[in-house]
Amino acid sequence: TSPGTKPGLTVVLAEPRGFCAGVERAIDVVERALDRFGAPIYVRHEIVHNKHVVETLKARGVIFVEEVDEVPTGAVTIFSAHGVAERVEEHAGERGLKAIDATCPLVTKVHREGRRYAEKGYHVVMIGHLGHPEVEGTLGRIPGKVHVISEPEDVDGLNLDHPDKVAFVTQTTLSVNDTRDVIDALKRKFPSIVGPDVRDICYATQNRQTAVAEMAKHVDVILVVGAKNSSNSNRLRELGENIGVPSYLIADADAMDMEWLKDAGRVGLTAGASAPETLVQGVIERLRGQCEVDVKTLNVIRENVTFKLPRELLDDPQPSQ
Ligand code: SF4
Repeated sequence: TSPGTKPGLTVVLAEPRGFCAGVERAIDVVERALDRFGAPIYVRHEIVHNKHVVETLKARGVIFVEEVDEVPTGAVTIFSAHGVAERVEEHAGERGLKAIDATCPLVTKVHREGRRYAEKGYHVVMIGHLGHPEVEGTLGRIPGKVHVISEPEDVDGLNLDHPDKVAFVTQTTLSVNDTRDVIDALKRKFPSIVGPDVRDICYATQNRQTAVAEMAKHVDVILVVGAKNSSNSNRLRELGENIGVPSYLIADADAMDMEWLKDAGRVGLTAGASAPETLVQGVIERLRGQCEVDVKTLNVIRENVTFKLPRELLDDPQPSQ
């Protein structure tokens, strides 16, 4: 803190932060489906990884399930933003469910790329975190065996029958820096490897990380509002920590420990792509209850991305098949 600075906290808000176009669209899909078809609406998996979003939709009559088996025959069922394997879609069809796909178009793009590589006879390697629903969905869209790796060290263990015919795709919400290291390791082992021109890490993930890296230069502590199971939120926290700024992932204001801030003059605040802005404002409110707070916004990148709704929910719907 420079001399003359008045006591209290400066909160530096990273811009962009919070909801991305894929999350906005997914929530819009559920809300429009409620308006159009009425409750109950079934959603397979958390529509986006945020408990507050899920609870708000539950209160409006949405029932969340993990598998389509749990949905009554014929009911409206929405697939979450993370995407699903092809067999899930087929299974929904066999069960006569009215399925609406809220998969983010940027995830669908990765599905298409992976499938194209496999059809051309490439071994496909996916850079991502095994067990994350997006990765499960992508694996279930690419024919044949797909190897999933997340660290440069994992490349050593890849023994492929045709090392000259290898392609990679990535999860959309990884760390930009870590992924670069994994791709470099892949290129060293498989010099003819092919991959997407632009990495599959989505614009929102990249922009939120760029904003945190910039914000980290100006703050003593970083708070990331986001859920524990939100991949992009975890990457934001790690990025802050790797830059050397103590960084904490909090679900909401109540999860914040004031001890973390006791020596801080400037607190950086951001939010993962699935965290609503109300939760960010809740953190500021809680801080205002403790001391004088000055809020500044650090504009790093302007975003202007929106995605079209699924055909079934457009105002001028096509006749249903
Ligand atoms: Fe789509 Fe990226 Fe948002 Fe995921 S984080 S929903 S890929 S825009």
